[in-house]
Amino acid sequence: MSNKDQFENYSANYGGKIKDHCGVVAIVSSSNVSNYIYYCLRALQHRGQEAAGIALFNNKIDVHRGLGLVANIFDDEKLKSLRGKIGIGHTYYSIKLSKPENAQPTIVKTEVGEVALAHNGILVNAEKLRKQLKKKGHKFVLGCEEEVVAYLLFNHLETTQDLIKAIKKTLSELSGSYSFTMMFQDRVFGIRDPLGIKPLCLGKFKDGFVLASESVALDVIGAEMIRDVYPGELIEITSTEYKSHQLFNKKHQAHCFFEYTYFARADADIDGRSVYEIRKRIGWRLAKEHPVAADIVIPVPDSGRAHAFGFSLGSGIPLAEGLMKNRYVARTFIMPSQKLRDVTVREKVNPIKSEVEGKRVVLVDDSIVRGTTMKRIVNMVKKAKAREIHVRIGTPPLISPCYLGIDMTTRDQFIAHNKSIEEIRKSLDADSLGYISVCGLLEALMFTKNELCLGCVTEKYPIDIPPEKHRFQHTLEEYD
Ligand code: AMP
Repeated sequence: MSNKDQFENYSANYGGKIKDHCGVVAIVSSSNVSNYIYYCLRALQHRGQEAAGIALFNNKIDVHRGLGLVANIFDDEKLKSLRGKIGIGHTYYSIKLSKPENAQPTIVKTEVGEVALAHNGILVNAEKLRKQLKKKGHKFVLGCEEEVVAYLLFNHLETTQDLIKAIKKTLSELSGSYSFTMMFQDRVFGIRDPLGIKPLCLGKFKDGFVLASESVALDVIGAEMIRDVYPGELIEITSTEYKSHQLFNKKHQAHCFFEYTYFARADADIDGRSVYEIRKRIGWRLAKEHPVAADIVIPVPDSGRAHAFGFSLGSGIPLAEGLMKNRYVARTFIMPSQKLRDVTVREKVNPIKSEVEGKRVVLVDDSIVRGTTMKRIVNMVKKAKAREIHVRIGTPPLISPCYLGIDMTTRDQFIAHNKSIEEIRKSLDADSLGYISVCGLLEALMFTKNELCLGCVTEKYPIDIPPEKHRFQHTLEEYD
């Protein structure tokens, strides 16, 4: 079977969807929650733009899901028709999602009960578990990871009446990254994996309690952050209280560092840290690790802004807005093909010639993955007559795929794969290039290496990645 066939086969088995990073929400309130969930999902839109959905409990679970942006899926009328004081929501990032039914929350119903699941993360042993469940006679309709979780839960509920115990048993069979929001009939939970790979936080607002991937979702509905959900913790919320169950206690953690450098919103607080402050610290540190004589520091908008600010503070070189972003163009990374990505970078950012002309410029971005963005930008800034271009990057060279939920799937797609820094500099056509070191990153993040997942920059993963996952990574190369 060719790589492409293998991919399509895999994809077909999984309902045509392969999920990466996503946003999840859960709210229980004394009034209708559809509007609240809608605004939370919009605040989490950056975590996934492929699809979204809201599931509410009103005697039974009702769900509305669609493809595209949250604002296009839910209009006023739809939101009014969605009634319930208990609900969960999801924004979906996926590389291939063809049908709205494949969007989340995923609903699974059996005689034991009805469950709605919204998942941010990847279960690396989902295929194995699915095969085992199939052998036991379970029929998979959706084919997604969440269906596997639901059947495991139902199996355990047949032997114990205690829902919390059944959830714990289910989770102990899962391997991978997950932050779930879950509705079992009218009970609502938030669950964070034992290593805390994906973020999840808890808040309170005037009418009830909320769980969400990032604190920005709490801010938008006027909720106050209580705290982050602890790794391995299950929290049940009602409209008047929350209950914590610490299900797993691992000695170490593995928070995804990429949430801090790129993925989360800069105005979010995660695990007790301000994402914006962390990015500034990275930039400051980068200026110390890779000093350069230059006239201006230019951020690559928007993801490189805070890093560039930090670089400017660390180097004393003034910050200038030398690149303007067209805010109506979607993220280039999310474009399905390389050709589209190339065009979109040009459409997305444009140099301000009066700022750039004749200057020695430091261009700062959060990360380089394939190099598409940075190559184009160096070229543009050169055309705008910059005298020198020095590139500084707030993530160490990305060399290894992410198996746990960030869309960096194949080794070969990385510009840093098998290349020295000098070779990368040449291919970007920059005058100099500096990446933050792993040590520098740890210092800026104020975590030890036993508290972070650094797999994509060190090739050392916090959990065992099954061989079939490695094979799957290869299949995507040709597909792309
Ligand atoms: P590339 O053009 O492939 O080198 O992508 C790098 C650009 O995409 C940087 O400007 C990042 O801000 C952004 N980026 C990095 N990683 C991701 C990701 N996993 N998903 C979406 N965008 C990303």
